Amino acid sequence: MSSASFPAALVREDLRDFTGYSSARTSHRGTARIWLNANEACAPNAADPQGRSRRYPSPQPPELVEALAGLYSADPAGIVVGRGSDEAIDLLVRALCRPGGDGVVTCSPTFGMYAVSARLHGVPVHDVPQHDHGDTWSVDADGVAAVARRTGARLVFLASPGNPTGSSIPAPQVLNLVDALADQAVVVLDEAYLEFSGERSDMPSGGSVAGTSLISELAGRPTLAVLRTLSKAHGLAGARVGTVVCHPELATVLRRVQAPYPVPVPVLEIALAALSPRALADTAYRVHATLRQRDRLCSALSAHPLVRTVYDSRANFLLARCVDADAVDAVIGELSEHDIVVRDMRHLRGLQDAVRITVGSPADLDEVSRALTASIDPPPANTTETTRNR
Ligand SMILES: *Cc1c(COP(=O)(O)O)cnc(C)c1O
Repeated sequence: MSSASFPAALVREDLRDFTGYSSARTSHRGTARIWLNANEACAPNAADPQGRSRRYPSPQPPELVEALAGLYSADPAGIVVGRGSDEAIDLLVRALCRPGGDGVVTCSPTFGMYAVSARLHGVPVHDVPQHDHGDTWSVDADGVAAVARRTGARLVFLASPGNPTGSSIPAPQVLNLVDALADQAVVVLDEAYLEFSGERSDMPSGGSVAGTSLISELAGRPTLAVLRTLSKAHGLAGARVGTVVCHPELATVLRRVQAPYPVPVPVLEIALAALSPRALADTAYRVHATLRQRDRLCSALSAHPLVRTVYDSRANFLLARCVDADAVDAVIGELSEHDIVVRDMRHLRGLQDAVRITVGSPADLDEVSRALTASIDPPPANTTETTRNR
């Protein structure tokens, strides 16, 4: 697929000749009649009468890798399946950053795991805050390039659509950054919410809505890595299946860094079932339904007197700013009286008045709307206007 090779200098020097753990499954890849090399039990557990989980799984089950390669239109050699994208993030940090040195660049407000993985690895995090345009957010690409250069960072984490912003990053901006830092850093594009991000098609049959993945731009760009997950659009957050799609040489390094057996047998079975044509058609239908509910939720929130802004969202959640920090308490309180829980974002810098709400089912949204309107007791006439105008 890609003719350019992955720059070996970007891999941690002390790991360049590291081959990782050699499990029974990896040290004998051929076939055999009788397998006695992994200390597995010779009979199934009563909970698993067919013995499907009796043996250790393949570290990267080929049928799942193939199915994901098909789903993402990617080269199977460049795919690493892990325990959610969370593990993929961790693998990238561990493979590319020396503990205590190097560094990663993030663009706040963003997904917390980038900084958590860096911190656990003893790696400094350099944040380049996003610009807030009132209805969307944008990444400061020049700032990211400058900070990455100045600090010698090895990794840049971008999310498109972002969490909690809901905003997409224009593809040329991502690709320019990849090219600008190609001799120094891997740019990771987290596409966890890509399925929700395309232009809407209101065909009753439900047209395609996913945005365009930058996986199609990997060829010739060895320092771009793309993260995908089955946790969001595919409805399998509990199964923990995430994928990094990248240059095959980087993928090899990441597999060596990975803890053994990342795909348990029951997880493999459910993931394969989720990638069947029928399940995928069902997923596409559910995504479409979610987008319709997103509009509804947006209207319900925007109409609330304590809500100042609802950001445009390309994902399955909305980020809203209230008139002030206390108003967040009021909104969260109203919802919680109806046993509805949403995410308080006030702990994040620049979001001291914000709340994030996942787009739920139509029935969930009925309840949210009811909770939000129930609370709009007409306030004393003279305060109504001042509240609305803020
Ligand atoms: C939810 C989310 C993920 C998914 O993580 P998994 O470990 O795959 O469940 C990844 N990135 C972002 C930005 C997210 O919000």
